[in-house]
Amino acid sequence: MTWRILGLAMTWAAVVLGAAPAGAITIYPIDRAQILAGSRFDLKVEFDGVLGAADAKVTIDGTDLSTALGRPATFVEREAGVAASALLLRDVSLTKPGRYAIVASDGKTSRTVGWEVYGTGPRKARNVILFKQGTVTSFPEQPDLVDMVKTALTVLARHEDGFVLLVESGLIDKYSHPLDWERAVMDTIMLDRAVAVAKEFAGARNDTLIMVTADHTHGLSLVGTVDDSVRSQEMRDRIGVHEKAGYPNYPPANDEGYPPRLDVSRRLAIFFSVFPDYYETYRPKLDGPFVPAVGGPDKSYVANEKYKDTPGAVLRVGNLPHGAPQGVHSGEDVLLTATGPGAERVRGFLDNTEVFRIVVDALGLAAAPAQ
Ligand SMILES: [Zn+2]
Repeated sequence: MTWRILGLAMTWAAVVLGAAPAGAITIYPIDRAQILAGSRFDLKVEFDGVLGAADAKVTIDGTDLSTALGRPATFVEREAGVAASALLLRDVSLTKPGRYAIVASDGKTSRTVGWEVYGTGPRKARNVILFKQGTVTSFPEQPDLVDMVKTALTVLARHEDGFVLLVESGLIDKYSHPLDWERAVMDTIMLDRAVAVAKEFAGARNDTLIMVTADHTHGLSLVGTVDDSVRSQEMRDRIGVHEKAGYPNYPPANDEGYPPRLDVSRRLAIFFSVFPDYYETYRPKLDGPFVPAVGGPDKSYVANEKYKDTPGAVLRVGNLPHGAPQGVHSGEDVLLTATGPGAERVRGFLDNTEVFRIVVDALGLAAAPAQ
């Protein structure tokens, strides 16, 4: 499995990679942590067992912790009733880029981790707008994403120091879980329109980095079209693949960019690869979002009988555990597109943590102060 742009695990203080092996002493931030120069983070060292204050020692590149970070850590003899001690130091920072070795000792054993502190170049972008497909829940009667982006840009553009705007288009994911791909695609069109609003804003200036990505994928693929003019009782034989796929006959998009009808006679054939038991209807669900499976006996989910009598519907036996009511996230690499100052770093395959570094570099957050 690759861990490239699988998810945006970002924090503004520090981006940590990997996991520390179990041991008698645990140091946070963990081994291989990447920390933006000058950003604040909390340091914590957990010891296995109760120590005397004098036995708990930490050095950074050979220098005592309190000297290296400017203040002494608090020694906690017993953490929250646990028979173990800890050292805690909040809101510290390292301003000099480079690799640091952190060594913690309890007087008998020691543990070493390495951190990378990275700087940035000078500020290239005044503003950053990051769009992501994600998992925010929407509420009824809220303005749509396009209106929200327009309003956010109008308000934020007044700030003299620039801004960072994170836009999440949550319904794409919310509708992919119940295998309702038509609704997910309509919300992808909405995301596209919202990105167009941001590009129009950025096009009138040259100081805004726009990035568009997703935090994960779902297992679904476009394979061709479903053509009702094919005379076959079985819906699967109405699917045109390869050179027989042809074009769907959705009517031209309306003024807002959406097809006004989805229940056309030659429509896209899109199928999910991971699913609970459900009835495949080969048609959009016009009366409301799809509910593929419902709770059955023993906490298992069974195909929703509501769709059983839809003409041509067939039962697809699920390939997920019986306790799964819906489809799930999948692990493919996701796309990341970018435009504006700083976008030149977006190419090839990137670790997802690079997205954070591209943002802070564009904003020059660790740039040397102007003379
Ligand atoms: Zn999800």
